[in-house]
Amino acid sequence: MRLHYRRALSQCQDTILSSKEMKTFYIETFGCQMNVHDSEKVIGTLLTQGYSQVETPEEAELILYNTCSIRDKAEQKVFNRLQQFKKDKNKVFGVLGCVAQQEGEKIFERAPHVSLVAGSASYTKLPQMLVQLEAGNHRVTGLNLDTEETFETPFARRDNPHRAYITIIEGCDKSCAYCVVPFTRGPERSRTSDSVMREARELAQMGYSEIQLLGQNVNSYRDPSPAGWDFARLLRAMGEIDGIRRVRFTTSHPRDFVKDIIDAIDENPVLCNHVHLPVQSGSSAVLSRMQRLYTRDEYMRRIDWMKKARRNISITSDIIVGFPGETEAEFNETLALLDEVEYDSLFSFKYSRRPNTPALALEDQIPEDEKGRRLTILQEKQRAIQVRRNGDLVGVVEETMVEGFNKATGQWIGRTSQNRTLNFVHAAHPSPIGDESLVGKYMPVRVTRAGPNSLAGEALQ
Ligand code: SAM
Ligand code: SF4
Repeated sequence: MRLHYRRALSQCQDTILSSKEMKTFYIETFGCQMNVHDSEKVIGTLLTQGYSQVETPEEAELILYNTCSIRDKAEQKVFNRLQQFKKDKNKVFGVLGCVAQQEGEKIFERAPHVSLVAGSASYTKLPQMLVQLEAGNHRVTGLNLDTEETFETPFARRDNPHRAYITIIEGCDKSCAYCVVPFTRGPERSRTSDSVMREARELAQMGYSEIQLLGQNVNSYRDPSPAGWDFARLLRAMGEIDGIRRVRFTTSHPRDFVKDIIDAIDENPVLCNHVHLPVQSGSSAVLSRMQRLYTRDEYMRRIDWMKKARRNISITSDIIVGFPGETEAEFNETLALLDEVEYDSLFSFKYSRRPNTPALALEDQIPEDEKGRRLTILQEKQRAIQVRRNGDLVGVVEETMVEGFNKATGQWIGRTSQNRTLNFVHAAHPSPIGDESLVGKYMPVRVTRAGPNSLAGEALQ
């Protein structure tokens, strides 16, 4: 079935190429999984417009950067890249994504060799923008945020042959005081349950066995069709699709996280026993200044649902240290929260001042070196928690999806339903020879060793 799909895509390309000259593009993606999947859709769109993808910027006529502006460092990366090529007059440059939306036409002033600036809410207009670029227009923009559209295309060019991302909701209607997303990705727009289910069934027929549902606030999903499904309803339906063995989702907002989501996970092992629930801070006072719309106690109630679930649900989170005004006592509340929850993994960040955000106006910014000190303390504590929690898994047998083979260690690379990396040896398949590759297969693996960030084991079959 996958072959049919590829053939359809290549026939479609052939038809277009017979009437147009082949053009080459290179794309580099920064940031979150939403961006990674947006790039898959952008690549699919370019292929159907007669472009072919190349591996290096040097080979390409069109160079695209799909950018992230969540923190200052991420934003600087793209301007550094653009600097490298500023003297190259033969190439066309495009800036896509969050930096494009945030900086808009200012990018043309800062990097005059850029000809395209487009945010994610305008990707449906990419074919028209490409026509303008081909006509020699040097200032093509797609910056309108006032849209009800979602970017759906049957031609997403997925790289992983086993796990597929599906965006179910775009944009964000929250207004966390530190965050640029509401300004860069526009208001929330959910896809209809019909179109999401159709895409998932097609992916299952093509041979994908794992689906990851994406959204900045994935659990705010609300089907705009008369069916009116909420997120838990959609999850349950996903779990029933023939051929789909795993369903994951990210990222959930605690405010919209209802118990029914945990009930759905408890009912069906196809729904992975992992929830990423960003807390940001363990102090209710900081959460209030962050405009997060929940208190520490309300957050802990959700953690309690997960801990009382029948399945062993792995819990991960995001934390920001050094938000304006964060006192030592408030920071200590976050450290105490880590002990209480015992996260399986954590993404932690120093607060970064972002343009347009309400937190810019807050007084009492925390000095960089103090943010760094707090981050180190937090990460050391979390590392000790992970060593302990992973250690508890030694001896346990986990169903593992095989993702690849590491030649250096001679181990297969696997992932458990809880989203832990479990690298393992297989007596009957010491390495991937010919058709004997295990990639994409699911197998029981016994955990024999544990480190802070991954597990090691041996396959039982
Ligand atoms: N929508 C998700 C939520 O509500 O948790 C988060 C999306 S954001 C792309 C991912 C993470 O980046 C956030 O959870 C937060 O921890 C971090 N982040 C966002 N803005 C930040 C900022 N200005 N400084 C530092 N970290 C930030
Ligand atoms: Fe940003 Fe808050 Fe929206 Fe998450 S919920 S994307 S942190 S504004």
